[in-house]
Amino acid sequence: MKKLMAANWKMYKTWDEARATAQELVDLAASKLPEDREVLIFPPFTAIRAVSDAFADADGFSVGGQDYYIKEEGAFTGEIAPRMLLDAGAEFGLTGHSERRHVLGENDEYIGEKTAYGLTSGLKVVFCIGEKIEERKAGKVEEVLEHQLRVGLKDVPRDINPENISVAYEPVWAIGTGEVAGVDEILEAHAFTRKILISIFGEKGNDIRILYGGSVKPANCGEIIALDNVDGVLVGGASLQSESFSQIVLA
Ligand code: PEP
Repeated sequence: MKKLMAANWKMYKTWDEARATAQELVDLAASKLPEDREVLIFPPFTAIRAVSDAFADADGFSVGGQDYYIKEEGAFTGEIAPRMLLDAGAEFGLTGHSERRHVLGENDEYIGEKTAYGLTSGLKVVFCIGEKIEERKAGKVEEVLEHQLRVGLKDVPRDINPENISVAYEPVWAIGTGEVAGVDEILEAHAFTRKILISIFGEKGNDIRILYGGSVKPANCGEIIALDNVDGVLVGGASLQSESFSQIVLA
């Protein structure tokens, strides 16, 4: 299984800025990318084509959309369909990110519907889960993760190709805060996630990638990526500069 080194650029970068950062990343990392790694960028919608053009000749580099709507087309002002992402050169979609859950108000049921819809529309999906700090303090990490996994993956076909779906464990309190989860916290959450994936998908659950996200940086990525059941990372802040993200990709 290849490790998936993913970047979430959120609402940062114009077309030109995205194109320049993507090209620098190719220059810094493409020739050194190990066989067992893949790079994935989630730019803002307006820059997907810029990044997919920059990645056109770079093996192992792909692009994704940070969101999409659950219809093929229609009168849904402001929304974007999976087939439009695919048309712009994206292969992946992102669902369940904590900012969509807690800032934009998406619930588990809608995230589940969106995850299944993206897959049937031909996207590979990175589906995010993670507990808030008050849930951790109340001893509810497993309860929260299990609920998010079971509802979020409810309509995903049980015979899915495991390469098409990844789960990103992103504790909400570690996102954008500089506070990375401890090794034991990551190990426990990832082992638990693996257990639930196996209970949902059977043996295939072993082949679904589980990424860690939350204040990953060049200085901590090497340790995190080597942990059991950590099959990649999802990086926000430290992915915005090509220099720091290339160090993460090659860590
Ligand atoms: C994220 O946005 O998914 C994320 C993990 O952000 P950061 O790396 O900045 O914590």
